[in-house]
Amino acid sequence: MITFELEEVEVDYCTGCAGIWLDAGELELLLGSNEQANQLLSSFKIDKDYTEKPRKCPICRKKMQKIIIGDSKPPLLLDKCPKADGLWFDQGELHDVLSRATLDKANKIQKLLADIFAG
Ligand SMILES: [Zn+2]
Repeated sequence: MITFELEEVEVDYCTGCAGIWLDAGELELLLGSNEQANQLLSSFKIDKDYTEKPRKCPICRKKMQKIIIGDSKPPLLLDKCPKADGLWFDQGELHDVLSRATLDKANKIQKLLADIFAG
């Protein structure tokens, strides 16, 4: 894992699988607080019928819960630590989440992410 800063938020990036780990509260920081961000964050719900293999939390090593975001089809699934250490984003998922909160700030972050992960 390498760590870099995005909009003053510390982001952990796995060079092996291109996944991203955000500590608790960091997604909120990246999204900022406005109605679209709040709607997105309040749409999180635990998916009890997931078929994806559970990941383990990089902090406490417990199996993480699958969280569904929004109501898109196919659903966007994230992994969340059951002890709320933070959130895991598979490759491209952070991009996806940010693009759903269509904010000026998110667009800037998306561009940053695109720059960092291009190629
Ligand atoms: Zn944990």
